Amino acid sequence: MKKVFGISNFRLCQQGVCNANMDGRDVVCVMPTGGGKSLTYQLPALLTPGCTLVISPLISLITDQILHLREAGVEAVMLTGGTSKALANEIQQRLTSMASSRGGGQQERDIKLCYVTPEKIAKSKGFMSLLRKLVEGGKLARIVIDEAHCVSQLGHDFRPDYKKLSALRQFFPHVPILALSATCPPKVLQDILKILHMKPVVDGKAAAREGTIYFSAPLYRKNLHYSVLPKPSSAKDVISAMSEYILQNHKNNSGIVYCLTKKDAETVAENLQAVSNGRIRTGVYHADIADAQKEGLHRQWRQGSVQVVCATIAFGLGIDKGNVRFVLHHTKSLDGYYQESGRAGRDGQDADCVLYYRPQDATRQSSITCTDTDGQAKLHDMLRFAQDMQECRKILFAKYFSASSDLSMASWTTEESSAMDKCGHCDNCTRAPETVEHKDVTVETWQLLKILEAVDAQGGRQTIAGLSDLARGLGGGSFDTGGKRQKVKEKVQLDYDAVAGGKVGLSKDDIETLTVQLLVSRYLGEAFSSTAYTVNVYVIPGELALRLSRFSRADV
Ligand code: ADP
Ligand code: ZN
Repeated sequence: MKKVFGISNFRLCQQGVCNANMDGRDVVCVMPTGGGKSLTYQLPALLTPGCTLVISPLISLITDQILHLREAGVEAVMLTGGTSKALANEIQQRLTSMASSRGGGQQERDIKLCYVTPEKIAKSKGFMSLLRKLVEGGKLARIVIDEAHCVSQLGHDFRPDYKKLSALRQFFPHVPILALSATCPPKVLQDILKILHMKPVVDGKAAAREGTIYFSAPLYRKNLHYSVLPKPSSAKDVISAMSEYILQNHKNNSGIVYCLTKKDAETVAENLQAVSNGRIRTGVYHADIADAQKEGLHRQWRQGSVQVVCATIAFGLGIDKGNVRFVLHHTKSLDGYYQESGRAGRDGQDADCVLYYRPQDATRQSSITCTDTDGQAKLHDMLRFAQDMQECRKILFAKYFSASSDLSMASWTTEESSAMDKCGHCDNCTRAPETVEHKDVTVETWQLLKILEAVDAQGGRQTIAGLSDLARGLGGGSFDTGGKRQKVKEKVQLDYDAVAGGKVGLSKDDIETLTVQLLVSRYLGEAFSSTAYTVNVYVIPGELALRLSRFSRADV
C-alpha cells in the first residue's frame, strides 16, 4: 500500500473490505464518494495472483484510474467500445496467455487489473469466453462491480447493461464479487444481492463462515457546508441569483449545477454564461451528449477552461476531480442532494452544497418523480428538509438516513462529534435569527383546510397553485367535477365568510409554502394524476398550531 499507492494508513472500512475480499468472500461495500473505494480492490489485486476484473460505468472514470495505476507502475488495462482493434487484440492475447500459463505464481507482465464497461459483459460473447478461459486457468481473482446500485431499478441510476451482470455469477459461480457503491438503501442492497446472485448478507458469528459481508462507512463529511437558499420565482432570476452567488463566493472555483432535466441543463449553461458576460465559463453534460463531447468536457473541466458544469444526474459517476468547491442543486430527493454533494470537496478542503428551493417546485417535481407512494415519501422528506430553517442540516440528514436505511445514526459520528451534535457550519447553524420571520398561521391554516373541505364537498380537487388563488378569492378554482371520464370544468362557488370566515390574508407564495408544509406534516394528503399535481383533503389531526418561517425580505 505504501510502496505502490503512497498510502500509509487505512481509512474507514478499507482494511476490512480488503481482508474479506482476499479471503475470497462476496463483499458489498458502501462508502461515501471520495472515501477511497478504489483501494479496496486495487490493493488485493496486487497482492493476489491472477487478474481482477473491474466493471465500471464510465470511460472517463476508467481512463483516470488507468492513468493513476500506470503512474504507480501497475499493469492495468481497459477494454471498452472505444479501444482500437489492435490494442484489444493485444490485450486479449495477453489475457489468453495468462490463462494458459501454468502454476499459481505471478508473471512480470501479468495484467493485474482489467477495466471494462458493462456492455462488454452484456454484449460481447468473445469477451465472456475469454473470461471463461481465465477462470478455467484459475486466473480470474475477483470481479469488482463499481457503482453497483446501477443494477437496480429501485436506485436512482439504473443502467440496463448492469442488469445483465447477473450472468457473471451464473457462469463463474466461484469467483468472488465485490460490489461498491456510495448510496445503497436496504431495498437497493437486497436487489443488488438478488440480481448479482450473491449470498445473503450475514452478520456476527455466521460471518466467519459464509455469506456476503456488508461494510458501510460514515457518511458525514465535515468539509461540506450544506445550505438551502430561496429560489426566485422566475427562471431568469434564478440564473441571476446563481451567477451572483458564484461570482461572489466562488469566482475562480470549479463547480457543478445540477438540473432536473436535460433541457434545463442546456438552458442554465447558456444563460449562466450570458448573464455573467462570459465571466462564468460553462459546459453541459447529460445523457444525450455525444461520448466524444463528454470526454472533451471532462478534460476542459479538469484543466479549468470550463468552470461550471451544468448537468443532470448523469454527470457524476466517478468524477475524479478533487477541487470541486461548490455544487448547486435543483434536486428531487435527499438521497440525490446527498449523493450529488458528494462530488464536492473530495480533496478534503471546504466546499459549499447549496440547494435552491422554492415550495412551488413540488408541483413540477411531482410530475417528474412521484408516480408511486415511495417517490411521494421521498419528495416529502426533501420538502421537510428544505422547509426547515432551524434544525442543523447534519442532524436532519442523520435522522433521514437512520430512518430510511439501515445505517445507524452512529454512521454520522466523527472523531470530534456524535451524530446528534450540531455541525456548527451549515446554514441553519450559522444563520442570524433576525433574518428569519416567524408568523403564527394557525387561523390561516384553519381557513385553508375549510376551503379545501368545501371544494372536496363539491367533488373537486385543487392544484397547489389553484388553491392559493382560490383561498385569496381570485377564482383560480376551476376543477373537474365529472367523475372518471367526463372532463367538466366548473368554477368553484364559495361563500368565503360562511365557509372560512373570510378570504385568506396571505400572499400567493406564503399560501403555497403553507400548503407544502401542511402536506409534509400530513395535515393534507395528495393525489397524483398524469397531467397535474393535485391536492385533496385528508384527515386533520386534532391539534392545529402552525408556524410559517421564511426568509425576511431583506435577506431574500
Ligand atoms: P471513491 O472511489 O470512494 O470515490 P477513491 O478511491 O477515488 O474514492 O479515493 C479518493 C481519494 O482518496 C484518492 O485520491 C485516494 O488516493 C485517496 N485515498 C484512498 N484511501 C486513502 C487512505 N487510506 N489514506 C489517504 N488517502 C486515501
Ligand atoms: Zn449545522
